[in-house]
Amino acid sequence: MRGTRDLLADLVGFDTTSATSNLELIAAVEALLDTHGVPHSRQLDPTGTRANLVARIGPPVAGGVVLAAHTDCVPVEGQPWSSDPFTLTPDGDRLVGRGVTDMKGFLASALAQLPTMVAAELTRPILLLLTYDEELGTVGAPAAVELLLSTQPRPEAAIVGEPSLLAPVTAHKGVRAFTTVIEGVDGHSSQPQHAANALVAAARIATHIDDLARRHRDAAADPSFDPPYTTCNVATLHAGQAINIVPRRAELTWEYRPVPADDSDALVAEVERYATEVVLPELRATTGRGTITFRTDAAARALAPEQGGAAEALVRRLTGSTAPASSVPFATDGGHLQAAGISTVVCGPGSIEQAHRPDEWIATEQLAACDAMLAALVEELSA
Ligand SMILES: [Zn+2]
Repeated sequence: MRGTRDLLADLVGFDTTSATSNLELIAAVEALLDTHGVPHSRQLDPTGTRANLVARIGPPVAGGVVLAAHTDCVPVEGQPWSSDPFTLTPDGDRLVGRGVTDMKGFLASALAQLPTMVAAELTRPILLLLTYDEELGTVGAPAAVELLLSTQPRPEAAIVGEPSLLAPVTAHKGVRAFTTVIEGVDGHSSQPQHAANALVAAARIATHIDDLARRHRDAAADPSFDPPYTTCNVATLHAGQAINIVPRRAELTWEYRPVPADDSDALVAEVERYATEVVLPELRATTGRGTITFRTDAAARALAPEQGGAAEALVRRLTGSTAPASSVPFATDGGHLQAAGISTVVCGPGSIEQAHRPDEWIATEQLAACDAMLAALVEELSA
């Protein structure tokens, strides 16, 4: 039987940097599930190189608990690591390696409990939910949640094991990212009457996005966040070739991070409306030609605090935590689970302070505390 630390070493050994394949890791988890006779289903992404995975330990009845973990991790390029990031390296009472905190430690802890989970006579199931490319904007999560709900009876609660030092986190903003492409008509700078300037159109849209950002700032609405409002960022603008050419094409990237109350498609609809109704007619005024298109690059849903939420109450029973529920400045797959009607809390070992950095580490004491939380979950669900 392999313990949490051995399993963590296995998981860290797979380079699952976002946007690369996670299939080797998924296959290893499937093999482990098979040795315990646990049924599972895999779902490939459209490229066939990444997969989500759902497994159920216990009876096929409603009211189970989801343990959710993303399998990808952030890149190591350009970071000064003092050991091989894909080899789990002990350092005193810490373990070092890419993903140990974010969030292979939680996954290793869940997998280490498999024998206990299988041996227990669970009256409600534990559902493992593994996703891909979370770090790119919860890319795999929407399909993963569909897979969960289409293959399993409806669960009652979900624990997303992102690093929170095992304290309950009940809120985060969403992250919605877009690329807007403006196609105009190029021409000599002396002849603007025969051209359509894509750069100017992009700048008009960028300014409008910033106007919306100010409006949200002035209407500051949610004191559980810092800052207490939805933010917008105009991030990159690529356009233009030379001083005497009217730019034909512009590409603008931008994002907004909505507080839960603002997490709808309304903001992007407002930007699209302005682009279509105001900027596009100007772009087309001289030549009759020009297009503006929007592409969604990331769509992480916000997590909203729940009144008397089942998931938060569950982790408080399991950990004994009396820490006040808090919000975090990053998004998780949890927003998608909550949007599907599953009570959701973020609670996992390690601290986000230790994530995404060179020499990412987790305290062995945090892993042991996570093991204890999941052992308590097994007990609760077999009562
Ligand atoms: Zn994470």
